[in-house]
Amino acid sequence: MISKKAKEIPPFIVMDVLEKAQEMEREGEDIIHLEVGEPDFDTPECIKEACFRAIRDGKTHYTHSLGLIELREAIAEDYWKKYRVKISPEQIIITSGTSPALLLIFASLLEAGDEIIVSNPYYPCYPNIIRFVDGVPNFIDIKEEDGFQYNLEMIEEKLGPRVKGILINSPSNPTGIVISEERMKLISNFPSYIISDEIYHGLVYEGEAHSILEFTDRAFVVNGFSKLYAMTGWRLGYVIAPIEFIRPMQKIQQNLFISANSFVQWGAIAGLKEAEEDIHRMKKIYDQRRRFMIKRLKELGFGIKVEPTGAFYILANAKRFTNDSYRFAFEILSKAKVGVTPGIDFGSNGEGYIRFSYANSLENIKEGLNRLEKYLGDWFKNKKNKNSIGDI
Ligand code: PMP
Repeated sequence: MISKKAKEIPPFIVMDVLEKAQEMEREGEDIIHLEVGEPDFDTPECIKEACFRAIRDGKTHYTHSLGLIELREAIAEDYWKKYRVKISPEQIIITSGTSPALLLIFASLLEAGDEIIVSNPYYPCYPNIIRFVDGVPNFIDIKEEDGFQYNLEMIEEKLGPRVKGILINSPSNPTGIVISEERMKLISNFPSYIISDEIYHGLVYEGEAHSILEFTDRAFVVNGFSKLYAMTGWRLGYVIAPIEFIRPMQKIQQNLFISANSFVQWGAIAGLKEAEEDIHRMKKIYDQRRRFMIKRLKELGFGIKVEPTGAFYILANAKRFTNDSYRFAFEILSKAKVGVTPGIDFGSNGEGYIRFSYANSLENIKEGLNRLEKYLGDWFKNKKNKNSIGDI
């Protein structure tokens, strides 16, 4: 009785690791979490205060289905301030997170069988959402040797009448890589819509991230408050879209979601206007952790050819240890008591890699990597493990 669609949508493996880790914690184990993709920081006080105020003032009703005009204006102003791009608040739809924003875009852009170019490795929800609306992800392998950047000739070869968009995510989950200005300009020249997931914007530690809107209007931007503002549980995101797509997406939003939460939107306005210092503080700490983790992972024997400069992830080459990242990750969890994400979660081309998240305290990162060092040391010493873990 269960539909094919529901049966076939894959799980999010990182959640499997997390849930197993939580089960172990319930049994009294002490686990270090380097698997989860969410800030360990508390949401800035000014955002919480604005939300409490909104609730006390009775701002607890549905909002306009596009979102509060005050928030849409604040987002347009933010894009002007950061990127000098002029967008109208009429081009923005506020959603309950970036994930629903992606659903609105693909549902309004794709006919059955239409394709979106997606990098492999990728953020796992991309192909799943594309397939959910009967689209087809058309994958391009991105390689460690190329710094996990798109090969533009490969994009050119893939373009055709069925390709409706090229998906980019900079800074990227899972690679932490930022696309350079020049490359982004070249990508924007392709005769296709660009869907740019800018959720990690602001979390860039060397150089700057550029918005696709600096280079083209034929673009959909998704962004949200989960990462930069440490608001994962609040569920708030948005789409910036070409104006002709707004009404169609609005109708989908009205039917599926009605509107995003009202008081949460008031909190986000305060975030955009008042949280600069908090963001600066969090960013500085992420950067310290990033530097430490890169150095330490290299010492442990993981490969990091091009150092990631954004988001809070490192996709480290673990091929000298394993060709089965799923099994390796669960071994690390059960033996070293450290949660990590297997590269296979991010597609076939992520196999042999492990994603480490530094959205955890430096103290925990140090402890987690010490445990990992001990585990790998024991593993090397063990003659039986001459072959990779996946071959045992
Ligand atoms: N895009 C990327 C690349 C992400 O890493 C995430 C969160 N892991 C999301 C979108 C979804 O974020 P949200 O909390 O806004 O739904």
